[in-house]
Amino acid sequence: MTQVTVKQLADEVKTPVERLLQQMREAGLPHTAADENVSDSEKQSLLLHLKSSHKVKVEELRKIILQRKTTSTLRVTGSKSISVEVRKKKVFVQRPPEEIEAERQCELEKCRAVENAARQQAEEEAKRRAVENAARQQAEEEAKRRAVENAARQQAEEAVVLSSASAKPAREATTVVAIPASAVITRKQDTLYRPYKSLTEDNNRRGDNNNNERKNAPHRALVKEKAYAVRIAPHSTDEENDVFRRSGRSKAKLKKRNVHGFQSPAGPVVREVKIGETITVGDLAQQMSVKAAEIIKFIFKLGTLATINQVLDQETAQLVAEELGHKVTLISDTALEDSLAESLKFEGETVFRAPVVTVMGHVDHGKTSLLDYIRRAKVAASEAGGITQHIGAYHVQTDLGMVTFLDTPGHAAFTAMRARGARATDIVILVVAADDGVMPQTIEAVQHAKAAGVPLVVAVNKIDKSGADLDRIRSELSIHGVTAEEWGGDTPFVPVSAKMGTGVDELLEAVLLQAEVLELTATPSAPGRGVVVESRLDKGRGPVATILVQDGTLRQGDMVLIGSNYGRVRAMLDENGKLIKEAGPAIPVEILGLDGAPDAGHEMSVVIDEKKAREVALFRQGKFREVKLARAQAGKLDNMFENMGQEEKKTLNIVLKSDVRGSLEALNSALSGALNNLGNDEVQVCIVGGGIGGITESDANLALASNAVLFGFNVRADAGARKIVEQEGLDMRYYNVIYDIIEDVKKALVGMLGSEVRENILGTAEVRDVFRSPKLGAIAGCMVIEGTVYRNCPIRVLRDNIVVFEGELESLRRFKDDVSEVRAGIECGIGVKSYNDVKTGDKIEVYEKIKVARSL
Ligand code: GDP
Repeated sequence: MTQVTVKQLADEVKTPVERLLQQMREAGLPHTAADENVSDSEKQSLLLHLKSSHKVKVEELRKIILQRKTTSTLRVTGSKSISVEVRKKKVFVQRPPEEIEAERQCELEKCRAVENAARQQAEEEAKRRAVENAARQQAEEEAKRRAVENAARQQAEEAVVLSSASAKPAREATTVVAIPASAVITRKQDTLYRPYKSLTEDNNRRGDNNNNERKNAPHRALVKEKAYAVRIAPHSTDEENDVFRRSGRSKAKLKKRNVHGFQSPAGPVVREVKIGETITVGDLAQQMSVKAAEIIKFIFKLGTLATINQVLDQETAQLVAEELGHKVTLISDTALEDSLAESLKFEGETVFRAPVVTVMGHVDHGKTSLLDYIRRAKVAASEAGGITQHIGAYHVQTDLGMVTFLDTPGHAAFTAMRARGARATDIVILVVAADDGVMPQTIEAVQHAKAAGVPLVVAVNKIDKSGADLDRIRSELSIHGVTAEEWGGDTPFVPVSAKMGTGVDELLEAVLLQAEVLELTATPSAPGRGVVVESRLDKGRGPVATILVQDGTLRQGDMVLIGSNYGRVRAMLDENGKLIKEAGPAIPVEILGLDGAPDAGHEMSVVIDEKKAREVALFRQGKFREVKLARAQAGKLDNMFENMGQEEKKTLNIVLKSDVRGSLEALNSALSGALNNLGNDEVQVCIVGGGIGGITESDANLALASNAVLFGFNVRADAGARKIVEQEGLDMRYYNVIYDIIEDVKKALVGMLGSEVRENILGTAEVRDVFRSPKLGAIAGCMVIEGTVYRNCPIRVLRDNIVVFEGELESLRRFKDDVSEVRAGIECGIGVKSYNDVKTGDKIEVYEKIKVARSL
């Protein structure tokens, strides 16, 4: 046993000896001095005492007691007062850690219990489900088995019908069971049918011995019961099956109903996109089943701005579609038409056909006169009633054969047709006035004919006139590559007089000879094919088109397709206005029954299938719209660029109405041609509207809205239009000569150009000396070296031919007198207003500003 003194212990626990002795005394130990020994047990008791005293202290520490005291005085009657003291004591106790731990344990246990309960519940649920599953499986198996049974039963019933009539149905059980014993054989060893089997055995027995059966009442009851069971069983099976089926269906329905209407695609959907030569953004988006905005965004990324109606070319559209992950099929725009062409067969005997001739030449060289002469002489003579109308083409019969003339003189109509790819003309008659010679339009006509590869026959007109020189024409034309036959070339030159009719027969002969060389053939038995010469909207008859049949035969009642128009030929008229039933190759006819007026130069073809005709016409309409749209967009852009830097470009807007489409086109090309010739950047002509037919109210409104002038070529305005024109003071003019229109347009353009201000130098004076006067400032002593110097005109001061000042004169003096002008060679004194820096040797230039009318 180790013993230590009180002092040693105090040192060990680092406490003063007195304090330790006191604590020992408190612990009931006998120690009083520092050198007394302390045994282990005494130490232990001291430790216990210290621990317990410390615990009390700790407990005291855990408790916080708050005391609050409030005193107040209550006054009772008079001077009496009662003082009230309210004492509040609040004790805050911090719970011991053991207690908290116990509580935590308790909560943990609670949680565990809940968890256990949940787990148990889940297990139970799982068990229940397993049981349910098993039951369901069992039910399904049962259902299957019943279905098999049903099938078997049905088979058995069918067997009943087929089985022998000897089967004896049980009397009592008739209603119960109608199945003979023989049928039972088909039944398998099924528990369900066992009662039935016993029943039938009974029945058989009963059939044998009725008396026995009646006596055997309880047995019968049993049989009935059993039989009922039998009857019910298959029935109920049916019903159950029904229910099963129904429930199956309804389940399926339910399932269907529960299925979401839209199922987002799991992967990207690749679509086949068909792209023609052009496609709009909208159409492309529709084909790809995406929003147009997506395509616009994509195109924007490519660096181009697009709108939903933007027409994309095939390449761009292909790029867009492929980049967006779709499959592209490029389709030819002519696919539909190709199929149409394939359906038409041009088979049959080919024969020579008449040549189609266009007359061209310079203005006033006699084209119209020639056409009129031939028409009068050849057509009118043969047809009773003469020429009744103008349809743009006619044919003449000569001794050598037939010739068809396109009655729209000038190359405007010719080029308009060529522009549409139609080759209507076989031979060009070039009219050159013998007295005038080759003129600009003659050369143009030669160029056009050559470009089209059409042979020429030159008609040297007006040979009746004195001064007609055939050789001059020959030589002038040879310069332009047209060599006369007589000169070793291949172009026949025929001298004619359209006025007198001289040489016209020879001209036709030459034409027919040329045609022979060309070996023009056609197949009259084939379906008709031709070209639109002109068309118009007739008030009474609707759209009327003049068609030149080029091949095959066009018949009344034929279904025709012309450009984007189609229709059945209701009636057909020849150039004399006579109704005809059919028209062969090179015959011009007027047809009625189209759904609209087609453009000149469009091809006509007979179509067997009306549906196909409509389809192609609609397709073409769409295509035209797209092309128009594309052109309009391009136009806008072009305009934008063109208008840059020339903001004040003035436009002469025109609303142009014409009698026939041919002249409208001729006018259009003439105006655009005239415009090009004008060669001015400041003014332009724009045909804002127009068409064939009279000037209507809507035309006048259009003119009003677009600040345009109204031109009527061979047409007049109706009452409504006239009213608007009068009310609004519109400019409306009627014409019957294209040339006049062009002249007027030119004049108008000149008027629009306005006048320009030009400077005219009136005189120049040279400064010889400069005098300074305090009153007048610097006065230049000058000699007028050129022209006249005027007092009231603007001046410029030039030093070494450089303008140093612009202004006006202050004074002009001759000696001491103020004068208004000084002529050349005379000295004078000049004071320049607000300029005192005039030097010897300067020149003073006097000028005037004049307005000059501009010309194109
Ligand atoms: P176009 O502008 O080419 O159609 O020319 P036109 O047929 O209108 O004729 C213009 C002018 O020439 C008219 O005054 C005709 O009378 C006249 N003319 C046409 N042919 C002849 C001809 O053979 N001899 C004479 N002397 N004058 C003619």
